[in-house]
Amino acid sequence: MATIRYITRFMYECPVCGKETASAAGMCKHIINTSTSFPVHQNWMAAHGISVIDIIGNHKPLIEVVEKECNKYKTEERVLTVERHKPKKDKVLVVKRHK
Ligand SMILES: [Zn+2]
Repeated sequence: MATIRYITRFMYECPVCGKETASAAGMCKHIINTSTSFPVHQNWMAAHGISVIDIIGNHKPLIEVVEKECNKYKTEERVLTVERHKPKKDKVLVVKRHK
């Protein structure tokens, strides 16, 4: 017997360099730790009222900014499972949400 499941995920797009991550927390780490264009990422944070000192040990303020300001993509993965076989993954739909 085969079953089909759909898994919905959101991808976050970095407003500075376009890098994509699978979570808002992942995007925070990227913005804080990136080795590419580090000053530009810092300036972006500063422009949204966040300094590195504010978020040491607490990424919550930055996560809130990421949720509001980053472009989010909705993706749906179709997972087909056939008995006694490995599940097969298939990305079926990507929707870009415009602000
Ligand atoms: Zn970036």
